[in-house]
Order: sequence, then C-alpha cells, then structure tokens
Amino acid sequence: MPLAFSHDTLAQRVLFGAGHAGRHLSDEALRLGARRVMLVCTAGQVERAGTALDGLDVALRWQEAPQHVPVERAEAARAAAAAHDIDLIVALGGGSTIGMAKAVALTTGIPIVAVPTTFAGSEATPVWGLTEHSRKRTGVDARVLPVSVIYDATLTEGLPRALAVASGLNGIAHCIDSLWAPGADPINATLAAEGIASLARGLRLIVGPSHSEPRDGEPDDRTGLAGREAAQYGAYLSAVAFASAGSGLHHKICHVLGGTYGLPHAETHSVVLPYVTAFNVPAAPEAGRRIARAFESEDALSGLNQLRADLDAPRSLADLGFDRSQIEEAAAIILPAVPESNPRPVSFADLVTLLRAAWAGTPPEDVRWENVA
Ligand code: NAD
Repeated sequence: MPLAFSHDTLAQRVLFGAGHAGRHLSDEALRLGARRVMLVCTAGQVERAGTALDGLDVALRWQEAPQHVPVERAEAARAAAAAHDIDLIVALGGGSTIGMAKAVALTTGIPIVAVPTTFAGSEATPVWGLTEHSRKRTGVDARVLPVSVIYDATLTEGLPRALAVASGLNGIAHCIDSLWAPGADPINATLAAEGIASLARGLRLIVGPSHSEPRDGEPDDRTGLAGREAAQYGAYLSAVAFASAGSGLHHKICHVLGGTYGLPHAETHSVVLPYVTAFNVPAAPEAGRRIARAFESEDALSGLNQLRADLDAPRSLADLGFDRSQIEEAAAIILPAVPESNPRPVSFADLVTLLRAAWAGTPPEDVRWENVA
C-alpha cells in the first residue's frame, strides 16, 4: 500500500473494565454535566445490567430497540427526548439499542454514552441507519458518534452463544471489508488485523470448553470472561477501522439483505462474509495476506472458514429465511451501491452468483465467478 493517504482519528473516550460499568457510567454523566438522562435500554437489558444502572439519575427510560431502526419509532423517541428536555443519552444494549440512540442524536445533537452488550461495534462509529418503506438508509454524521464508550465484559455474560458468534463475525466483517472499502488506509488496516485476531481468539474462547482448568499457555477462562474481553476489544478495533474505511462491498450487500428483506443483521454478515472474501481476495493480495496472518492460517479464506467451522456459524441465507426468487431483485438493488474502491469490478451476474451461493451455503472456495479467469 503506498504511503499517501488521509486519515481522521475520531474523538471518543473509551473505558474498559469488567465489573466497572456502574462507576464509569456515573463518572461520565458527571464529567459531561448531564442533568436529564434518557436511558435507551430494553426491559431485558435493564434486568441483565444488574447494579450497573443504580448510580444513574434517569429522567426518561426508552425501552424500544427494534432492529434496523424504523423511522417512525425513531421519531417517537426524538419527540420524547424533546418533551423531557434530555441532555444526555445513555444507550445500554446491542447495535439496535445504540442505533435507536443514534437516531435521536442525529436530529437533536444530544451526546451519547454507549454501553455495548454485543460485539457488533456500532458504539465506535459515526454511522447511523434508519429503515423506511422497507429500505434501509445509512449515513455518516459526527453527531451520532458516542462521546464515550464503556466496555464491561460482565454485561455480555447473558449473550447466547449464537448471538455472540453472529455479532462477533459482524465485527470480523467490519475488519475484512475495511481492507477494500473506499477509505482503506494503512492505519485502519493495522487496526483491522488486530481486530480479527482478537475477535477470533475471543470467540473461540467463548464457544470453547471454558469453565475448566486452563491448559499450558492458554488464558485462564474459567469464568468465560477472558474470551468476552478479547471479543470486546476486537469489536472496538473493528468498529474504529470500519468507521474510518467506510462500507465496502460486503456491507452494501448486507444492508440490502437486512433493510429490504428483513434478514437478521449479524447472522447475514456471518453468512455473506466468506463469499465476498472469496470474490475479492484474489484481486487484493495484500489484504489477503493480512487476513491470513491475523487468522494464523495459510490463506484468508481457509482461516475464515476454519473459524466459522469452530464457531458453528450460520451457513446459508436460505436458513435465515431469504427467498431464492428474490436474488435477482436484490442484486439489482445492490449493484448501484457497489463502491468504486472494490478491488475487482462487480457485475450483476457476479452478485447473482454470490447470492445464489450464499443462499445455498455452497462452500465459498467452490464458487465459479463469471468474470474471473
Ligand atoms: P441487537 O442489538 O439487535 O441484539 C440482538 C438481540 O440480542 C436482542 O434481542 C437483544 O435484546 C439481545 N441482547 C443484546 N445484548 C445481550 C446480552 N448481553 N445478553 C442477552 N441478550 C442480549 O444485535 P446487534 O448484532 O448487536 O446489532 C444489530 C444492529 O446494529 C443492526 O440494526 C445493525 O445495522 C446495527 N449496527 C450498526 C453499526 C453501525 O456502525 N452503525 C454497526 C454494527 C451494527
């Protein structure tokens, strides 16, 4: 990669510490001079948060966080924030909860403190998403970047394995896509490589035989906490890389599948990622080497395949409820959004081939692309 690039480092305070979310939250509310706090957090998340919210003086509790942020729900949350004279939003939950907080910040400029409970990474990006008439719109706005992020691995303890795996693979997708997205540069490529390695290590620990005596050279993960911390750290790095690089081919495909066809966000990422990797890596050898090194594997695709096998990740879009008859229509919606930065030209036929393979769960190394020798 030539050393000629521009890179914006986004201003955000990040606090890590298992078991410290409560103290960090009250410290941040005080530091930011908050008088009227809106807590965005579903009822289940409030319960799981335990004592972490005890020190927070909450003026408004917003408990709705539907996936992909329907615009009418965002407007209701904005109206409630205005009616309660809110000056700080605390969002405790996954990407959907943080997405709802971002929708409020987008039009009001109210700062957000995010306390993520999944590994999706929305907390470290200025990217917002809203869904209207079955179309998901995304955009970038500095106002939606949380001013502070509080990571507390104990808050991810209730996250079911399947959700941990899917949202962690969403993080790995941020990393891989950032290597060929429009704003790819050496700084976010470095963050992405470390993000992949940390997420892969963390996710394997989470699904692996934890709660047992550590073997030689392995971290002591009898509580499952070391894996969760590694996954959170990787999720943060992945999001910073994605925030800087922007959306590449992979994210453009997943936004259409999620926004237009209602497929579950994280699972869709984990199904589509190996196909985009198989398609792009032959035309992006440096990215391929970085990914392979991060996975400690011979090549990028086998490293990703091995991780997906170890994690028993979702395999096909058919399993996620996508209808095969919608493939051509989806390809036509995706095509105009494909970034020019993609290392290989993308045709309508390529997208159809990719979606058919992802729909069926065909091994990605077996896919034959039409415009590739
Ligand atoms: P999610 O927030 O939709 O959560 C999935 C489910 O997990 C929900 O039922 C939630 O209640 C539950 N959950 C969350 N944390 C839990 C925990 N610790 N224990 C038990 N259950 C828990 O899923 P997600 O994958 O975090 O986020 C997906 C959404 O985030 C999508 O809408 C996506 O577009 C968005 N996103 C945005 C960005 C961005 O940069 N703007 C980045 C990544 C994801």
